[in-house]
Amino acid sequence: MLIDNYHRHISYLRISLTDRCNLRCIYCMPPEGIGLLDHAEVLRLEEIERIAAAAARLGISRIRITGGEPLVRRGVIDLVRDLMKLPGIEDVSLTTNGILLAEHAAALRSAGMRRINISLDTLDAEKYRRITRGGDIQRVLEGISEARRQGFSPIKVNVVAMRGINDDEIAEFARLTIERPVHIRFIEFMPVGISTEWDQNSFISSSETRDIISRVGTLYPVERCGKSGPAAMYRLEGAAGQLGFISPLSNHFCDTCNRMRLTADGKLRTCLFSDQEIDLKKFLRSSVSDQALEEIISEAIKSKPKGHTISEPSFKKCRRNMSAIGG
Ligand code: SAM
Ligand code: SF4
Repeated sequence: MLIDNYHRHISYLRISLTDRCNLRCIYCMPPEGIGLLDHAEVLRLEEIERIAAAAARLGISRIRITGGEPLVRRGVIDLVRDLMKLPGIEDVSLTTNGILLAEHAAALRSAGMRRINISLDTLDAEKYRRITRGGDIQRVLEGISEARRQGFSPIKVNVVAMRGINDDEIAEFARLTIERPVHIRFIEFMPVGISTEWDQNSFISSSETRDIISRVGTLYPVERCGKSGPAAMYRLEGAAGQLGFISPLSNHFCDTCNRMRLTADGKLRTCLFSDQEIDLKKFLRSSVSDQALEEIISEAIKSKPKGHTISEPSFKKCRRNMSAIGG
């Protein structure tokens, strides 16, 4: 078992497959995009599998594939299939912007994936184009329908709540769960990346989001299941779906954080908000043994910070953009 210095059991690995993306969301990337990694800097799929296998031997049981946009990476389906076969891995899931989902949903499902998160911050086509700087919402909606047809369950929709941008749609998103068995999860806008448009004015806390929704109906807490992650889950009376609130800023969940992250260029990040990273690629490319790799990962976990320091005056936004970390 991977236990850090604060007695947290680390069982979840998020893998960023690529720093590339087919969108430029205003909260994640600057308009011109980010300086992309050279091909040689990006981990090869075999290297990712080797790290995942070492992590699985150490007790990681769940993996999430993310990016950038993971579905733009060639070989993603084979990778999912291989990760699913690793001894100890119980679940491999995906976070995607949904643009390429309609064409990949069937293959992902037959590779063994069951759970998927789709990012969608508005239901309005024009606003979607503005938030994503050019995206076509129709493709995402088709992706969601296809994922449902293929039997993905639950389908989780991630909404980054931003004042003055999509706060007028929070109630409408919540109403969607009444008829549909979807999970809508509101994420607090986080100050990650030097060029995102985060500031105190655009930030909406989860408690404010909940207040807005309570005008739609009473929210009843849903008992946590192991897979709800950091989201506090609720249900409107009689609703088919659920509502989740992810509050990294207003109510940080560092005490129970069970995750580590692998960036596309092979750096292990033990905290989303800390730029302290361990360069696993360097070891992989100098013929490290499996045992030594496991030791390096175990040692890295010991440097996982107790918690983030966002609310402290000394906090500086992380250097990497969210697209380079994987969310
Ligand atoms: N491209 C995929 C997508 O958009 O779902 C996967 C990568 S994206 C970086 C992962 C998640 O991070 C998305 O749900 C996105 O909305 C979220 N995200 C990105 N920047 C964020 C920010 N500044 N604050 C909160 N969430 C953010
Ligand atoms: Fe791309 Fe996802 Fe970032 Fe949007 S949030 S720019 S889709 S990586």
